[in-house]
Parts: sequence; structure tokens; C-alpha cells
Amino acid sequence: MSKKWVYLFKEGNATMKELLGGKGAGLAEMTNIGLPVPGGFTVTTEACTEYYNQDRKLSNEIIDQINKNLAILEKECEKTFGDVNNPLLVSVRSGAKFSMPGMMDTILNLGLNDETVAGIAKSTNNERFAFDSYRRFIQMFGDVVQEISKDKFDYVLESAKEKNGYRDDTELTADDLKEIVVAYKKIVKDETGKDFPLDPKEQLLMAIEAVFRSWNNNRAISYRNMNDIPHDIGTAVNVQSMVYGNMGDDCGTGVAFTRNPATGQKKLFGEFLINAQGEDVVAGIRTPRDIEDLKELMPEVYKQFQETAERLENHYRDMQDIEFTIEKSKLFMLQTRTGKRTAAAALCAAVEMVEEGLITKEEAVLRLDPISLDQLLHPTFEEAALKAAELLATGLPASPGAATGKVYFTAEAVCAAVANGEETLLVRKETSPEDIEGMYAANGILTARGGMTSHAAVVARGMGKCCVAGCEAIKVDEAAKQFTVGNQVFTEGDFISLNGSTGSVYKGSIKTVTPELSGHFAEIMAWADEYRTLKVRTNADTPNDAAVAVRFGAEGIGLCRTEHMFFDEQRLPSVRRMILSESKQQREKALAEILPMQKEDFIGLYKTMEERPVTVRLLDPPLHEFLPKESKDIEALAADMGFALEDMVTIIQGLEEFNPMLGHRGCRLAITYPEIAQMQTRAIMEAAIEVKQECGFNVIPEIMIPLIGINEELTYLDKVVRKTAELVKSERKSDIKYLVGTMMEIPRATLIADQIAKTAEFFSFGTNDLTQMTYGFSRDDAGKFITDYKEKGILPNDPFQSIDVEGVGKLVEMGVVLGRKTKPDLKIGVCGEHGGDPKSIFFFHSVGLSYVSCSPFRVPIARLAAAQAALSNNKTTFTDK
Ligand code: ADP
Ligand code: MG
Ligand code: MG
Repeated sequence: MSKKWVYLFKEGNATMKELLGGKGAGLAEMTNIGLPVPGGFTVTTEACTEYYNQDRKLSNEIIDQINKNLAILEKECEKTFGDVNNPLLVSVRSGAKFSMPGMMDTILNLGLNDETVAGIAKSTNNERFAFDSYRRFIQMFGDVVQEISKDKFDYVLESAKEKNGYRDDTELTADDLKEIVVAYKKIVKDETGKDFPLDPKEQLLMAIEAVFRSWNNNRAISYRNMNDIPHDIGTAVNVQSMVYGNMGDDCGTGVAFTRNPATGQKKLFGEFLINAQGEDVVAGIRTPRDIEDLKELMPEVYKQFQETAERLENHYRDMQDIEFTIEKSKLFMLQTRTGKRTAAAALCAAVEMVEEGLITKEEAVLRLDPISLDQLLHPTFEEAALKAAELLATGLPASPGAATGKVYFTAEAVCAAVANGEETLLVRKETSPEDIEGMYAANGILTARGGMTSHAAVVARGMGKCCVAGCEAIKVDEAAKQFTVGNQVFTEGDFISLNGSTGSVYKGSIKTVTPELSGHFAEIMAWADEYRTLKVRTNADTPNDAAVAVRFGAEGIGLCRTEHMFFDEQRLPSVRRMILSESKQQREKALAEILPMQKEDFIGLYKTMEERPVTVRLLDPPLHEFLPKESKDIEALAADMGFALEDMVTIIQGLEEFNPMLGHRGCRLAITYPEIAQMQTRAIMEAAIEVKQECGFNVIPEIMIPLIGINEELTYLDKVVRKTAELVKSERKSDIKYLVGTMMEIPRATLIADQIAKTAEFFSFGTNDLTQMTYGFSRDDAGKFITDYKEKGILPNDPFQSIDVEGVGKLVEMGVVLGRKTKPDLKIGVCGEHGGDPKSIFFFHSVGLSYVSCSPFRVPIARLAAAQAALSNNKTTFTDK
């Protein structure tokens, strides 16, 4: 038997999306549950592939099956294709597995020609309608099948309206339309050199082939590239008998969602037009009316539509996006699909559907896209205020959220203004580590240079702070304390507003709205927490960040980077003295100055986190990062330390490294200068003991040693740390518990994890460095070529964003297995940026990690992703296109 290339709607169902496309499967399903769907059939996606295999030709077998199904359709409708008295007209509609703008537009009224148009006029007793349909058909066919510019047809139509003084298309008379048809056919003849095809069967095959061809037009290809849709799955074609929304005032066409796609509210949401066809509603030819109005105009039809919508939603158990047409007061369903919605609507609908008993809590949790939660966590602009605002420029959407404030051009100026109670924004050419304080204090950050991984972007995302980066249209003059856009000048203290989700920069202040974390959000999060087994911690260096993270549900700190505290303006001099010390005594003296400050930091963190675990990493970056770069700062430092300028320059140069990220950093620093680790351990332990005494919290500090690659590095430093910790305990007569563990971020460490686990009391995978060193890619430079790698298909995606399961993931898995061979209940977490990436979280769940740690604003995302991972047994479910 030959292969089946064509399916009648009643032969398909909702599960056959791959073969019938999304539209075809929906039409089939609606047909089978008894909804009023005009009859028709679907030419399969396999036929599309076959068309390409046969050198862009429809095989005889396929043509044969199309004709057979057409005959069945004719019988069903009691109309005949090309019949002068009672002609069948059809629509030809493309529809791939994934909804895909960019493919061929729908052709309506196919089957019309000079003879059948008369038949339609007679049988409907409506000549105007017949010729209106005919001119629409020629226009659509000419445009999408014969690729004649739409403008040519539009010009004729507009001229006719102008000549007669009409405003609306509906004012055109039958005679006007007849003239337009003649003019349209002339356009086709002029453009193609051939007459407009009058044989309906020829029209149909041409249209079907055009749909298949459109699968490979440029728009469609680039859409598939952008959305990771495979190129070889092809599209289906639906051929469906026409119903007419344009036969008079008891007709119409519309689209509706079963719930509000912006808010999720359970109420029909949609629009319709009386006496209109096809895309008139979305094309904006006339202003459509609210679906509510249909209640008064056609109460019976409205009631039927409402019931049908509800039925479809109950049947699919999800919000539907529905297309319908009314022909002479009779309702027809033309499409149904899962409705696209905002994050807020998704949340609201999911919770309410559980309350209605439509779906289970598990389904609600699985249905939401974790990343989309991000939209709900940041402030947004008030809608009305935003409408009135003037857009100044657009940069990169580096870190989401809305912010408004007075512009300042240095971190100090921002801090001073904030101390005065002002709302501020930090505006700079680009930021550097010295700007951290100002970035922290400002409501948002705007830079003229730098990309999505620039310092400003990375730090702002970590802080959850709004940032627009690389906004090249603004010219920043930091010395003159001003920036210009075009010929507008903004000086210190002028208000602007930033949208870090879109990259927009606005003039003046725009009112912002803070997000609500209660209600539906809290409900979904509580459900997610019931299902997940992975714990979720946060990466936080300050009590402030920690408090935000706790509000978002963080269960501990997985990474506190002590170096961030070293950049504080008041500490930097002591830190620099510590680095530049020429003797151990000098160094210890400088460290003694830093000790009380570090202790204060940890006290603040412990108080915020109460009894939640806090992992503190010992100093990690190369020391060179703390030293001044500009000559005036170097001079100042030399003066401060009593060094000759030349000596100072020599010392600084001496600390420079060729490959600082592979250089003297991490545990290597503490091995050269154990007194740094001693000071930090003392600060950690004293703080814990004091908070325990003062607040009664049973704090168990976790001290983490970075960059271990050799077992002896760890055994050596473990002794240094423990000796200090025990000393503090005995000084303070405390029996406090503490843990000493290690980062797993050097590939070698994962290979000898069984040895390391003998000493380490916990592991934390630093997947940023692990990825960097496994690939041998410098993370700070990889941006330059990773885009090329992706475009050339060498890498499917950026391994710094989503963990590379087969390579880096293998090392993680090996580390887990080996580590637990030594210590079966070894606590193992991850603290790289992958800890907040849903895809990576699925992987971490699957290899049995104890927790993930991510930046505060990622915590809810991680909680939801961890729940999905637990519920779906490691199958990804939220990537519905
Ligand atoms: P899209 O994929 O762009 O939504 P469709 O194939 O759904 O395109 O067609 C667009 C519109 O054309 C439909 O919403 C409907 O109004 C109209 N249409 C399609 N087929 C028919 C038909 N058989 N009878 C009447 N109108 C139709
Ligand atoms: Mg369309
Ligand atoms: Mg549609």
C-alpha cells in the first residue's frame, strides 16, 4: 500500500502535531470532539519533505491523494470545485509543528474564477460579496503564490476608494469590485507574463507548492535559527472549505483567548469584526470590537462561542487562543492553540486552574517557564507614565528592571547623593571594580561602552540591579560631569529613567511599581518547594543581598566572596598595604586592620541568615586586581605608604601576571601568605561565636578554600584553618561547630575527588572556572568567538550559560561519585552562574547534588527549576515553542 500523505480532519487528532502541524492537529481534534469546523484535509509534513526530496515537485501519488480527499470534501459539502452553479471554495493554510511567523500567509476563497464568481453571486444572492471575495483571492494568490508586491494591489484598491470618496472597504459596490478584479488580473498578467490561473485544481496545487516553498524562505529560515527549530521537519498544508464572515451584518470574524493573556484573569478576551474575512481583525483595516459587544449583537452566537471556548479549555486543560468566523449567525471554529501569555498571566492562570480543579499542582509547576519569573521580580514602569515618556536612546538590556533617578558620573558622587536621600543612577563610559559601591547605591547603571558580559552587566545582574550597557548613542564626559545624546545635554542631577529589560533610556523620571511577591507567586513557590529535593542557596556578599535572597526563599549562602568586601573604599588602603608589605610583620599589621572590618561583614551576614548555612570563600582573585591602575592613584598610594614613586611602580609591575586567572590566586595565595587565611578564619569564627552569644543562633560556619587542584594544597591549608579556628574557640571558650571544604573548579580536583573528600567536609563546584579550564577558554575573552562558534554549529550554545553536560558535566559527575565513595553523605553544591540556569539545574538534580547557589534574583527561578527537575525525572518540559 502506498504511504498516506493526506489526512481528512476527522482522521487526525491533537497528538499528531509532528505529522499534521499544530494547526492541522487542532482542526482535527476540534472536528472529533464535535465542534463546528468547516470540513477539510491536511497534506502532511512528510509530503513537504518528499516535495524537497523530489526536487521541489509534488509526486503523482501525493497529487492523487489530494484529489481523492478533495472529492470526499466535495461530497460532504455538497458543492463541487469549479462548479458554475454551486462551487466549493477553500482556504489553503500553512501550519508547521511549531507556530512559525515568516511562512506563507493563508489564501482564502481559492476556487474562484470568472465563472464560479457568478455562481457564488447567484447562490448567495449577493453579487457584492462574490466580487469582494474574488478580488481578495486574486490579491492573496498574487501576493503569496506568485510573489507580486502587495503594494501594486493596494494601490488599485486605494485609488478606487479615493475616486469614490469612500473611507471603508465596505463602501465599495459590486460594480467597483468588478473593476478592481479586472485591474488585479491585469497586474498578474503584467507581472508574470501569464493570465491569472482560472482552473481551481491548478490554483490548489500551485498554492500547496507555494506553502512548501515558503518553508525555506529567508524569513522562515532565520526564525527557525533564532528559535532552535530544526530545518528538516517541514510544514503541513491545510485545505479547508470556506465559511464566510463577509456576507453581511449577520456575519463576522474574530479571535479570542479563553483568559486574559496579559493578566491571566478568567474572562473571554478578544476582538471581532462584523462583515469581515480572514486577517481583517489583525490587519487593522477597521477597528475591531471587544468580544463583549458580541453578547448584545448576537446573543445566541455569543453564548455558543462562550460554551465552546470553555469546552476547548477544559479539553486541552490550558488557556486557548481561538479563531472563529460567523456565517449568517452560525458559528465556525477555525483554529485553536495554546495561548501565549505574559509571566504574570501564566502564574495567575496556573494557580487558578488548580483551584478550579482543571489541572494538578504538579502540572501547574511544570507548566511555567522558570526564566520568565524574572519579569515578576523587578520593578516596572507605571504604564501611563511610560506612555508619556520620551525615549532618548537604546542600549543593551544588560540587567532587567526599571529604574529612575538623578544622573551622577562617579561612584563617590552617587554615594554622597544617596546619603542625602536622593534617587540616583550611575552613568559611566564603563565601570570597573572601584565603582562597586556606587553601583550598589544607585538605582540603576548606564554605560556607553561594553557588552552583555562587560563588568557593568555582570556585576549588575549579580546585584539584581537594572543596567543598560553599551548605549553608544550617549557620549559620556565624566570629567565635565555630563553626557549628551544628539544635541541634548544632561548634567549631574538631571533625571533620566532606564529599562534594563529592553535597554531603553528615557528622559525625566518615570514612576516605577515594585513587584508583589505574595498571592499567586507565593502559592506557586510553595508548591515548587514541596516537590524539589535540591536546596537553593544564594551567592551573596553583603547583608543587603542576603536579605533580598532570603525574601526570595534562599536557604543559605552558598558563596560569599570575601574579596568584594576588600574593594570598599575605607578598606582598600589597608588591603593595598597588606599586598605591598615587604615583611610578614608588615603584612600582619595590615591584616590586623582588616580583621575587625571583615568580622563586621560576617556578623551582618550571620544575623541576616539566622541559622541558615553560610559558606565563606577565602580570598580568591590575583592580588594585582586590588592595586591602582591610574597614575594619579599610584602616586597617592606611594605617598601614603612612604614609597618612592619608582619603587611603587616596580612593585606593581612585579605583581602583574601574564595569565592572572591561571596565576597566583585562590589557595595559592594562602599557601604563600598563610596569614591571610588565618585572618579570614579568625574573622569568620569570632563573628560566628559573637552572633551565637548575642542572638542565640546556632551558626555553623562553612569555610571554603578555592582553587584546589592538588590534594596536598588542601591538607596544608586545612591545617592552617583548623589551627586558627581551634585557637579562636579556646580563646573564646566556645564549642562552636564549623566545616572546612573546598571549591571544585580545577579539572584535576574532580579527578582525585576521592582523595580530596578525605579532608574536605563539603564540595562546591565552581562551574565558571571549571568550564573555563576544561575548555581552555578564558571566560573574559570567549565572548568574542563563541558567537562564531554558535553560528558555525561548532557549539550549540554558550557553555558559560548552560552547563556542557557531556564534558564539564562528566567531570562534575565524576567528582560527585568519587567524593561520595569516600564520604557517602558528602554535602555537594554548585556556586557558579550555572546554579541559576534551569537547564543546568536539571543536570545538577540528576547527578544528585545537595544544593545549587545562585544570585539573589535567580533564587525563585532555581526553586521552580529544581521542582520541575524532580517532577519530570530529568525530562525538560518547559521548552514548548
Ligand atoms: P495564521 O496562521 O496566520 O493564523 P490562518 O491559517 O489561521 O493563518 O488563517 C488566517 C485567518 O484566515 C483565520 O483566522 C480565518 O479568519 C481565515 N480563514 C482561514 N481558513 C478559513 C476558512 N476555511 N473559512 C473562513 N475563513 C478562514
Ligand atoms: Mg498570518
Ligand atoms: Mg490563525
